Amino acid sequence: MTSVAVVGSYGVGLTFGVERTPDRGETLIGSLFRTDHGGKGSNQAVGAARLGAEVVFLTAVGEDPFGDRASELWAEEGVDSTAVLRVPEPTMTAAIIVEAGGDNRIVIVPGALSALEPAHVDEFAPRIAAADVLLVQLEIPVETALHALEVGREAGVRTVLNPAPAPPGPVPAVADYLVPNESEAPAVQDAAGVLVVTLGEQGARLRGHRVPAFPAQAVDTTGAGDAFCAAFAVALAEGASDEEAVRWGCAAGAHMVEHPGVIPGLPTRAELEDRLAVAV
Ligand code: ADP
Repeated sequence: MTSVAVVGSYGVGLTFGVERTPDRGETLIGSLFRTDHGGKGSNQAVGAARLGAEVVFLTAVGEDPFGDRASELWAEEGVDSTAVLRVPEPTMTAAIIVEAGGDNRIVIVPGALSALEPAHVDEFAPRIAAADVLLVQLEIPVETALHALEVGREAGVRTVLNPAPAPPGPVPAVADYLVPNESEAPAVQDAAGVLVVTLGEQGARLRGHRVPAFPAQAVDTTGAGDAFCAAFAVALAEGASDEEAVRWGCAAGAHMVEHPGVIPGLPTRAELEDRLAVAV
């Protein structure tokens, strides 16, 4: 079985629906509340597991009920979370205030993720070395993400960096593959590796050539990049060519945008294969 190691984030999205954002000192009654599993690392780990890969995941969550719920998710989805740290900081949360018109305001508290250090990656190194592909994002301390890539390269494992969310400045990353979206791309323009830029409904660009998107009736584009990266990594782990891996990414992204929410929009293997069969 092919295996993917993921070093990244887990967090919970707390969404509050309101008519309008409250003014300073004001309290308003909202009309909706929802909690969703999130964090780019966890989303991509679940995405890869759903496609049939054996997935080992390193992240940090709190000793709180959100951390418990995360463990339940990974158990349900077959993600190996035995290396996940439980730390005395809160699990990462995002408070998302959505106005009736759709505008949103977001506050993210990294909490437990700040405790994820390069030394934890060293402890996880044997799991990385045993994987076919290592997948890393930047929703954890940058030095930890860069160290994970180094450990992967030293072990001869193929490495993929999804430089998301967009870092404030250039990231001196060395990875076999860099998979930014258009707004994240400037941060890795000087980084070493094969560049795959995702282009939303335009598909993706691999080494300067565009790979077309699969047709999709988009209802919620959140998580398209996570679905892309998960499928891209699994394809590489299975020995697919770079072109084919990008096609898998595009097919998974198209599936995601047709479904509200992120975890529900990650395709199964059968769903991905159905979409790959569509001529573009
Ligand atoms: P992110 O979510 O990181 O901003 P993108 O918006 O570039 O990433 O989407 C990732 C991938 O998902 C794209 O490369 C594309 O293949 C697919 N995708 C995104 N939006 C659409 C869409 N409207 N129709 C079809 N495919 C899409």
